[in-house]
Formats: sequence, C-alpha cells, structure tokens
Amino acid sequence: MTQVPRMPRVRPLSIRLRLTLLFTAVLAGTLLVFGIALHTLLARTLIANGDRLTSGRAQVIARESIRVEADGSLIVSLRPPPRDPGRSFIFIQVFDLRTRQIAGRSANLDEESLPITPRMLAAAQRGESVFETVRVNDLRLRVFSIPVIATGTPVALVQVGRSLAFDAQLLDPLRWLLLALAAVGLPVAAGLGWLLAGRALAPIRVITETAGEIGRARDFSRRVAHGGPPDELGHLAGAINVMLDDLERAHRDLEQALAAQRRFVASASHELRTPLTTIRLNAEMLQARETDPGSERATMLADIAGEADRLNRLVNNLLVLARADAGWRPHLYPTALRPIVEDAFRQAQVLADEHALDLAAPQDVNVAGDPDLLKQLILILLDNAFKYTPTGGRITLSLAASNGGVALSVADSGPGIAPEDIPRIFDRFYRADLARQVDGSGLGLSIAKWIVEQHNARIDVASTLGRGSTFTVRFPPAERA
Ligand code: ADP
Repeated sequence: MTQVPRMPRVRPLSIRLRLTLLFTAVLAGTLLVFGIALHTLLARTLIANGDRLTSGRAQVIARESIRVEADGSLIVSLRPPPRDPGRSFIFIQVFDLRTRQIAGRSANLDEESLPITPRMLAAAQRGESVFETVRVNDLRLRVFSIPVIATGTPVALVQVGRSLAFDAQLLDPLRWLLLALAAVGLPVAAGLGWLLAGRALAPIRVITETAGEIGRARDFSRRVAHGGPPDELGHLAGAINVMLDDLERAHRDLEQALAAQRRFVASASHELRTPLTTIRLNAEMLQARETDPGSERATMLADIAGEADRLNRLVNNLLVLARADAGWRPHLYPTALRPIVEDAFRQAQVLADEHALDLAAPQDVNVAGDPDLLKQLILILLDNAFKYTPTGGRITLSLAASNGGVALSVADSGPGIAPEDIPRIFDRFYRADLARQVDGSGLGLSIAKWIVEQHNARIDVASTLGRGSTFTVRFPPAERA
C-alpha cells in the first residue's frame, strides 16, 4: 500500500505581516519607478544639451576654421574659444577626406585621435551629419561628425566629441542617493507600517478574545467593548454586539421553553399518575376479593371505567398540545360557523338537564377556519360553563357578526373568576382555587387559546365573582384571516 505523504501544515501569514509586506513592496515599487524615471529624464536632458553644444561648435568650425585652397588642399586653424567651460570635455578633429589624413585636432587630444567609423564616412558621402558614441582609451565620447562640402563634394569631416564622464559626474551621485534613500527609507517604512498595522488591528484582537471568552463561559450577557471611532471596526463590534443581543434573547427563550417543557412533562406525569393509581388499586382489590358482593364489584368497575375515561381525555388533550408544540398547523378554509355552533349546542343539550341552555345565532357567518378545531373550541367553553355553573344556572351560546368580523360567546351564571386568576387561566395545568372541587386538568383553556391563535382570533373573558363569566372569541373578517 502506498502511503500518501502528509502535507506540512503551513501557518498563514498574519494580516499584520501581510499589510506590512504589501505596504513596503508598494513603496519599493514606487521608489524604483520614480528612480528610473528621474535617472532616464536627467540622462536624456544631459545628452540633448551636450548634443546641442557639440553640433553648434562643429558647425561654427566647419564654417569659419576651414578653408579649401584652389588646389583642393585644406587650411585648418583651430582656436579654442577663450574661457570655454567644457574645454577639458570637448575634443575637436578635422579629417581630410581626400588624403585620408587628420588635418587638425584640438590640443587636449595630445597624440590621440578620434575614431573615423564607416558610418561617419558613409554619412559624409551623403552630405549628412551623424552622432555616434565611441570609446577612446578609457573615455566614452559622443562624437558629432559633419562634412565640409566644396564644389559639391565632401572634402573634410569636422568631428566634435564630448566626454560622457561629465554626465556620469551628475548621474552617479543621483544613483547613490536613490539607493541610499531606498536602503534607509524601506526599513523605516516597514517598521512604521508594522506599528500602524498593529495599532489598527488591535481592536480585532480584543473582539476575538472577548468573543472567545463569551463562547467558553457561555455568558451571553457580555458585550464587545470598542472605544474607538465608528469606523469599520466600530461597525464590526456593533454588529457582533447586535448578534450577541439576538443570541442572548434566543438563549433565554430556549431556556424558558425548556423550563416550560420540563414543567409540562412534570405536570402531565403527575396528572396521569392519579387515574392510573385508582385503576391499579381497584383492579388489585378486584383480584384479591373475588367473592365480593356484586354491588361493590360494580362500583369498582365503574371507577375503573371512569378513570380510564378521564385518562383518555387527558391523553387526548396532551396529544393536541404536543402536536401544537411540534409545529403542526391547521389548514384554514371558508367555513360556515352556524352549523358548527348548532352541532355543538345539540351535543351539549345532553348535559343540560340541570341547567338552562340557550342558543342565539340569528344568522350564519363565515370564517376562515378548521371545522373540527372550531367545534372543539366551542365544546371546551361549553364544558367549562356546565362544570363550573351550579345546578339551576343559565348558559347562553351566541354567534353574531360584529365590526366586520364574527363574535362567538359562551356566557354562564356561574361563580365567576377572580380578577387575579384571569391572566393565568389560559396557562397549561392552571386551575383557580375555586375550581378545585370540580374535576378537570387545567388543559382545556390552553387548547382553546391555541385554537383561537391558529384562527388569528382573540379570546377575552368578562367575569364578575358570584355573577358569572362570558368567554368571547372574536374572529377577523374572513377575507382578512
Ligand atoms: P379545567 O377546567 O380542566 O380546570 P381549563 O383550562 O378549562 O381547565 O380552565 C382553567 C381554569 O379556568 C379552571 O380551572 C377554572 O378555574 C377557570 N374557569 C374556566 N372556565 C370557567 C368558568 N366558566 N367559570 C369559572 N371558572 C372557569
């Protein structure tokens, strides 16, 4: 089996180092371009000025210092002009094209002579002047050659050479100056860049450290401190703090939801235990005393059936709430409410032999709803009204259009609800003290509230102690829902 070699882990360069390198590289590039441009410009200017000087001098010599005799021989009288500043850099030579001899030269050439190249000769034959850079001993010279024409033929070549050492005297120090500037400036700039980048990035380090500590300690109440101006880093710190706000809220909601869930499970288990215990005890007694008189057996069996029934209701209610918690949502569609109200009314009449039950539903109204849930809602309210209203009381179920929407209400003449209980009766498992003697689990109204919310409706309670309570559900107009 071949082994794949492990790649060595490369640690990425820090932003600080990258910024410094980039900054220094840009500065070095700028210095280089600037240096080359300055050097080239200066060198060209020096050459152009020198060329003007040498060509001017050569023309004057060709015009004034050379005479052609009748026999064609040349008379050359070279006189260096007084106080010539470029004297030691300017060399002059006259070349006789017929005899191929040097006819005269400036004193500073001593025994040396300026070279005559084929290019110069060819240009002279055409009657043209030419510049050429040549080397004499260690000296680089830029030589201007111009022909002297007599009766249409080039007879002599006047050459004026200028030493380029003069240019080098200016250009060499410039080169050194630029190099020194780079050698000192670049390390200084790199150091400064390193310091500035460090200072600019310091808040990021603070933000990173704080975020790390918040994560480790799970302390979402902490915030990232940023004392600087509202620049990009200020915005970053602000954005992280906004995110921490959201995180803190989400964490708190989650903890509350978890606590509610734990309470729900604990209460549900407690509620389930009571009927289960009754069922188990009765069954055990029935098993132990097989010879019991029939009437006692019948009571025990009735208890078992009753508790099983209660258990069934409880489990059904728990199931509805569990489905609601799991995110199940009903599908709403236009629903005529009066048939549902009448159906629930008929079903409730069975319970109504000890109470007076009235129905007031003068007209049909439509809501966007789920018929099964709507019926369950009405039955929960009616069931409570019957449960809590003493014998002989009156219960009224009414349905009416109101303010463009629909109002459905269940009113009773029962004991009423204490004002301090009203905000809590829709909580799961909450039961007011007054209700303790009546059978119940405290889940009915929480299911009613969930159904109301699913229909984008509202439920209100109006109650007076000793006089009765009215639960009103207000549905929005069908088209708005
Ligand atoms: P349960 O009726 O099973 O106790 P609910 O959630 O239906 O649970 O009701 C919660 C509480 O609201 C009841 O325990 C009772 O204290 C109060 N309540 C509800 N309906 C009425 C009513 N019609 N009259 C008086 N109190 C009521």
